[in-house]
Amino acid sequence: MTSVPDLNTCAGPGCTQEFRRLGDGKLYAFTVDEPEKWGLPPHLKQKVVWLCSQCSASLYVRLDRRRFRVQVVHRHAGAQAA
Ligand SMILES: [Zn+2]
Repeated sequence: MTSVPDLNTCAGPGCTQEFRRLGDGKLYAFTVDEPEKWGLPPHLKQKVVWLCSQCSASLYVRLDRRRFRVQVVHRHAGAQAA
């Protein structure tokens, strides 16, 4: 995996859904201290990742802050955080 998912398309593996409007799926906005390491412009201290509604039902997004990578993680059935 070479490219970091961005807001234009769903971050789900193999998913090509395009982001069209707010309210679809789930939008994640992470504050980052070193935007350039995330491939962002220096002034943009926010990494935004989108999952389409289909993917967000079974996946969620978190950041690997040591490797500066977005991770898409499977939700485990029955392991919902209280
Ligand atoms: Zn998707």
